[in-house]
Amino acid sequence: MQIMPNRLDRGYYKYQKEFEEKVNEVLRSGWYVLGKEVLAFEKEFAAYTGAKHCVGLASGLDALWIAFRILGIGEGDEVIVQANTYIASVMGITINGAVPVFVEPDEYNNLDASKIEEKITGKTKAILVVHLYGQASNMEPIVTLSKKYNLRLVEDCAQSHGACFDGQMTGTFGDIGCFSFYPSKNLGAFGDAGAIVTNDDKIAEDFRIFRNYGSEKRYYNKVVGANSRLDEIQAGLLRIRLRHIEELTAERQKLCKRYLTELNNVKIELPMLRSRATTVWHQFVIHCRERQALIDYLNKLEIGTIIHYPIPPHLSEAYTCLGYKKGSFPITERHADEVLSIPLYNGMTDEEQMFVIRAINRF
Ligand SMILES: *Cc1c(COP(=O)(O)O)cnc(C)c1O
Repeated sequence: MQIMPNRLDRGYYKYQKEFEEKVNEVLRSGWYVLGKEVLAFEKEFAAYTGAKHCVGLASGLDALWIAFRILGIGEGDEVIVQANTYIASVMGITINGAVPVFVEPDEYNNLDASKIEEKITGKTKAILVVHLYGQASNMEPIVTLSKKYNLRLVEDCAQSHGACFDGQMTGTFGDIGCFSFYPSKNLGAFGDAGAIVTNDDKIAEDFRIFRNYGSEKRYYNKVVGANSRLDEIQAGLLRIRLRHIEELTAERQKLCKRYLTELNNVKIELPMLRSRATTVWHQFVIHCRERQALIDYLNKLEIGTIIHYPIPPHLSEAYTCLGYKKGSFPITERHADEVLSIPLYNGMTDEEQMFVIRAINRF
């Protein structure tokens, strides 16, 4: 049986009729960018997260870099971020000329809150929390620190749609929550899309202006902005997926519960669950010291896997300018050498999952 790490087609066929009807509706409407579907999606996604506002954007990276731009964080400023993140989190900081200050992860693959304070300097302006792999970070101490040092708090929720800490949705703890709706995310579009949520009226307004060339009124430009508009087809399709998000998340939780109970190979470490936090399981990430052997073994059985992520940002060629070398962040580097995401997707059958479980247990 051939099993791919992800199957986006399954997610499409699950609600095929609804998706196709929506696309036809938008095509026939004659209005394709920033219209009633975007407005409706923004309202519905804000309600889902419990935030006051949502502003649709073109991607998750745009959500991040525009967030720091709007908060006035740039040249000479420092932003604290976990070292073991997807590189987009870091690019959101450096596009503005600000400097990322890396912190090692805790045992839940998220920012280690106990290691933040020692990194705060006179130049620190913000903390960027990434709820990696779908599990909420340890928000209580992070919120406390951001208040104590008067720092902005931005959340990268590209992998955590619907994940909570103490019952509160990720994305609503700080100034701005940044979301990606890239097709493989838990709430995925059928192309690029993103959004921010915020409780701050001014920040929401600034995003609305910035995403459309800095104009509030057509052809009257207040600031030098960007083109980061969400289109009607993606917004309409996202509305459908959002209508089913509880069911989609529950399905992932059920699959991962089975992985947690049935996987029993001593050569692998299973993901740990943080108390007070929920996870929406963007990925099911195991650690394995003999990772390459495991990958090769699974490949022979036609089971695909992915490494999220093989090269941490501080060792990426793109960031040689930061001057880090191997050994700078040993925990992060060990993660990069050991993590492996095993197949997980909405629409995964019991038969497919049991095949993966049996294979891994026999490794
Ligand atoms: C996917 C992702 C992003 C970027 O989102 P795009 O929509 O691809 O620009 C940012 N941060 C994290 C953690 C992600 O997983």
